[in-house]
Amino acid sequence: MATLQKLNLSTFLRPVLNRKIRIIRTIVQLIIFGLLNGLMFGLPRLPILLPIEYPTGAAFSTVWNAFEALQYALSFWVFPYLAISIFVLFGAIFGKTTCGWACPFGLVQDLVSYIPTKKKKVSKPTNASLGKIAIVVAGFVIAMAAIIGITYNRGEINKLAFGAGKDMPFSTLDPSSTLFASLYYYLKWGLATDSFGAEIGQWKFMFILRLIIFAIVLILIAIYPRAYCRWICPTGVVLGFFSKYSLLGMQRNPNRCISGCNKCEQACPMQVPILSYDKNIKNKMCTNCLECVEACDEGALKLTFRF
Ligand code: SF4
Ligand code: SF4
Ligand code: SF4
Repeated sequence: MATLQKLNLSTFLRPVLNRKIRIIRTIVQLIIFGLLNGLMFGLPRLPILLPIEYPTGAAFSTVWNAFEALQYALSFWVFPYLAISIFVLFGAIFGKTTCGWACPFGLVQDLVSYIPTKKKKVSKPTNASLGKIAIVVAGFVIAMAAIIGITYNRGEINKLAFGAGKDMPFSTLDPSSTLFASLYYYLKWGLATDSFGAEIGQWKFMFILRLIIFAIVLILIAIYPRAYCRWICPTGVVLGFFSKYSLLGMQRNPNRCISGCNKCEQACPMQVPILSYDKNIKNKMCTNCLECVEACDEGALKLTFRF
């Protein structure tokens, strides 16, 4: 019986304990998630914009969502200086480290990937092609916000015609917003006719549509790790635009990578073609998550400042 328990424990725990970096990353993500919800612990809301998928309208949020700020400014026909500066600053210096270590919807996807279901990979060309969906989503949302802004410029009343998406078109369907804001408000107030009823009750159809989209995304990420980040997220696209040549980033040492074992690429949740880079891994999908570092037995990969 004791042997059986030992066997079961080691069978289940060893793969987890062997992944120290992954565990540390999850702990960091959870701590940051707590800080992002600091209003719950009496922290003030801070005048900080972050390039993460976490709605500004979440009940306890301490920070502002940079992509929402970008849409919001455009929808009032104001150039989004601040939001763009944040994307440039974070992207050029830290790459997509916020995606790997701080984004709450990234955390959700990582937690879902802990569920022991059979995960699938697509081919490298398919991964790259599907990544273009996110570019189209980002382009469409930015164009939509600009159109709303032009309409607003001609008279505020016209803007109301855009309904729920009049200020931030993407937030009306954004699964992160559904999970962290709408669902919370729904559980608290229901589809009632009070102050939030205006947002949720009258737009019951939108709420149900949001739930359906969220459920589809959930199924997708359970099968394909970080699929939302790779193929849909507009925040990731805008950040990736500036992150490719970031100061902080991954490097591969070909002299150490003798075996060509491919374990790094197998471990990479973003399916970055790591072995196609001789030194600096200049890939807009890389989130500096260090999963590849953990997988490489030769110590051929490292996160470093790439001057
Ligand atoms: S790509 Fe989007 S959802 Fe994924 S971690 Fe980055 S900001 Fe979050
Ligand atoms: S290349 Fe490495 S650090 Fe970058 S996303 Fe893939 S596993 Fe993470
Ligand atoms: S895991 Fe390390 S040794 Fe294996 S292919 Fe990747 S970089 Fe090379």
